Amino acid sequence: MESINTSTKLVGLIGNPLGHSFSPVMQNRAFKKMGLNFLYIPIEVEEEGLGDVIRGIRRMNFAGFNVTIPYKIKVIEFMDDLDDLAKLIGAVNTAVITKGRIKGYNTDGEGFVRSLEESAAFHVKGSSVFVIGSGGAARAITMTLAARGAERLYICNRTGERAERLCQDINKGVRECAVAVSMEPGEMERILKDIDILVNATSIGMHPNAGELPLDMSLVQEGTVVCDIVYNPPRTEFLNQAAKKGCTTVNGLGMLAYQGAEAFALWTGIRAPVEEMVNALTDKTKA
Ligand code: NAP
Repeated sequence: MESINTSTKLVGLIGNPLGHSFSPVMQNRAFKKMGLNFLYIPIEVEEEGLGDVIRGIRRMNFAGFNVTIPYKIKVIEFMDDLDDLAKLIGAVNTAVITKGRIKGYNTDGEGFVRSLEESAAFHVKGSSVFVIGSGGAARAITMTLAARGAERLYICNRTGERAERLCQDINKGVRECAVAVSMEPGEMERILKDIDILVNATSIGMHPNAGELPLDMSLVQEGTVVCDIVYNPPRTEFLNQAAKKGCTTVNGLGMLAYQGAEAFALWTGIRAPVEEMVNALTDKTKA
């Protein structure tokens, strides 16, 4: 902290509430590791203050900021430019400030794909993926999977119309590859027999409801790569039960680290120390 001075580049995390966020610890460890004079700070703000905060940030020594729940969509109105993928997703989780202009990105989907590639050595191109959920994170993941060449995306959601709308957006905006699936067990069973990757992109199983499952586990096939984007707890009941069936499992901490690594690279222009970021997250989950 004694090294903070007028040259220190600031990066913020805008959201509400932020008490349980892992990002400040992860990003500050990464800045320290790389010897950068950067500081990452949480900025908890009520919705009516969001515009004022971003106007202030624009005038200060900020390299950019992250955005989290509930402002990933709302924040778009304060961007000067929008990356193409963020535009398709319709949400921003990372902003970069260059000469006073703010450009919005979405690194969640890329974080998910990199985590899958690194943790399960799995390549998305040509794969068949079943995603449960159609909220903000599911949108980012599925749009990125489509852009990265997934052969077929099956999407189901508690609110079926959201899954249908998401499939239409993918098929129109990226590639004709997404099919909405009902949560009817017979239909799910037929499709789950023929997929490579199964993803829980809902908040089911997240603390304090650890133990809840996103689907009937008897439908999950041995040999499927099973991913959960929930990272609190780091190993959900969904992953525990999938591992017992002989599935390769990928937890949400990897996605969190890699979406952060993508953001780090955008702010600093250098590759992020991903291993250090994963270690910071692991330490935080044990604290
Ligand atoms: P969101 O936009 O609020 O979407 C929530 C999704 O979960 C919707 O599809 C919703 O279905 C579904 N859902 C919630 N409760 C449900 C229930 N009881 N039964 C069935 N479906 C339910 O949230 P989000 O931003 O997408 O985040 C989803 C989860 O991903 C959260 O746990 C978040 O912490 C995690 N996440 C992880 C990372 C990472 O880096 N690992 C990044 C982003 C988010 P409806 O449409 O029917 O409401």
